[in-house]
Amino acid sequence: MKGFKCFFDKIICQDSNTIERSEISVYEYFESIPLDESFIAFIRELVGEEGVAIVSFLSENYDVTDEILSQKTGIKLNNVRKILYTLYDNQLVSYKRIRDKTTGWFIYLWRLNRDNIEFLVRSKKRAVLEKLKERYEYEKQHVFFFCPKDKIRLSFEEASEYGFKCKICGGNLESFDNAQIINFLERKIKELEEDISRYQ
Ligand SMILES: [Zn+2]
Repeated sequence: MKGFKCFFDKIICQDSNTIERSEISVYEYFESIPLDESFIAFIRELVGEEGVAIVSFLSENYDVTDEILSQKTGIKLNNVRKILYTLYDNQLVSYKRIRDKTTGWFIYLWRLNRDNIEFLVRSKKRAVLEKLKERYEYEKQHVFFFCPKDKIRLSFEEASEYGFKCKICGGNLESFDNAQIINFLERKIKELEEDISRYQ
């Protein structure tokens, strides 16, 4: 989604941090930020389900007050503020300040911090890729056994410790073919590498 959106149609930029209301309309160009699953999972962990709702709304809307966020998401204003502060501490949102000339009050306009989000998503993906590669190496370098009854899997080292008997039922262990796991990991690693290479 692309578009021009502004919830305040009577503002003009004074400097990068403070805007004052005037009679001139300013509409800033924005592109909505695509949020991927790993990022949503990260937000959910950080600020919960309400935080996901706020971030989703901000991904499609630009320069929004806490009151509008509360109205649009149905989340209590106090919670909206708490979530915004946590997101701000993690540099995931930033704000602009408007001074209302009539009341003299400051109004804060919130937006997602696009560069940081992209950076975060990228580093998360790199971390996952590292984990997958480690697991892939482990699978390639080990021989496994399993108990068909208890569905547990042991490495050669563990199995030999128990004399190739199941540590639960005492039955004979059978050799386990991990080719499917290796194939799966190979595919995932390739997908993720292609995905990450698109950022460069
Ligand atoms: Zn068993």
